[in-house]
Amino acid sequence: MELGFIGLGRMGQPMARRLIEAGHRLVVFDTQTRAVETAVRHGAQAAKSSADVADRVETVFASLPTPDVVLSVATGKDGVSEGKRVRTFIDLSTTGARMAMRVAAALKQKNIVQLDAPVSGGTPGAEKGTLAVMVSGPRAEFDRLEAVFKVFGRPFHIGEAAGLGQTMKLLNNLLSATTLAATCEAIAIGVKAGLDPALMIDVLNVGTGRSSASLDKFPRAILPGTYNGGFAMGLMVKDVRLCLEETRALGLTMQIAECVEQLWEATERETGADADSTLIMKSIERRAGVKIDAREKG
Ligand code: NAD
Repeated sequence: MELGFIGLGRMGQPMARRLIEAGHRLVVFDTQTRAVETAVRHGAQAAKSSADVADRVETVFASLPTPDVVLSVATGKDGVSEGKRVRTFIDLSTTGARMAMRVAAALKQKNIVQLDAPVSGGTPGAEKGTLAVMVSGPRAEFDRLEAVFKVFGRPFHIGEAAGLGQTMKLLNNLLSATTLAATCEAIAIGVKAGLDPALMIDVLNVGTGRSSASLDKFPRAILPGTYNGGFAMGLMVKDVRLCLEETRALGLTMQIAECVEQLWEATERETGADADSTLIMKSIERRAGVKIDAREKG
């Protein structure tokens, strides 16, 4: 198929590359020239703007950092809604249900169908094509694009209404944020008590304490001391905040979620938004007065 792809970052770049490798013709745009150049080296064609992408193809994917960026790329000046050919806009970003509904309504005025299709599985999942893809919007459009979604991983049709995929994704990320923070705390407590952190992770991964934190983030990015999990602190805080906003809009108060939000916000104030989210371990280490990275222990 002829497809457009806007936003070639940590997730977008490997997803775009997989589409090209699967035989699709890709027209791409990113505000960072280097990101576009990388995609062109893989076989993509460069566009001048999001509107230019939407002038050239009927089906446009986006993987963008924040809800405001998605709104402006989808509906703003030089955005997708100004394109002459585009008929379907698929947002792979995490933006929250309310933004997905707002973008869907604005695009509908221009006869463009939106699917929100946030993904989970991190940069390794984007590289390997093993992401969970949580799609909401018209079933017929999901069916038409299912083979494309399968290039990214395993697609699920979450529902017809715009935003349901986003709600599912935010709940997934609330759990991911919670288990990463909680596993860091458990490891810090264990190290303070004299346990070996690598052995702890091995045990947790056989026991019931395992999660994506113990199975993936600790062995890949925390225990080796590389802190390159591939998910920025600012995006983690954005997702937890969006989830809590939706929770409050439903009239609910959730105790663990509130705590997790405060912990991640405090961590972002220490590290900055661009730091890798696995660096939460460092903040917890400092407060506990322990070192878990074998290289630092010497
Ligand atoms: P990123 O910051 O690495 O990539 C975003 C890309 O969008 C960058 O290349 C940036 O230059 C580009 N961009 C920004 N503004 C633009 C604009 N106006 N027009 C065109 N391009 C623009 O972010 P990421 O980690 O790839 O995440 C992308 C989305 O996917 C986010 O919504 C994030 O929450 C979600 N997500 C990320 C992960 C992960 O592990 N990194 C996992 C699942 C979902």
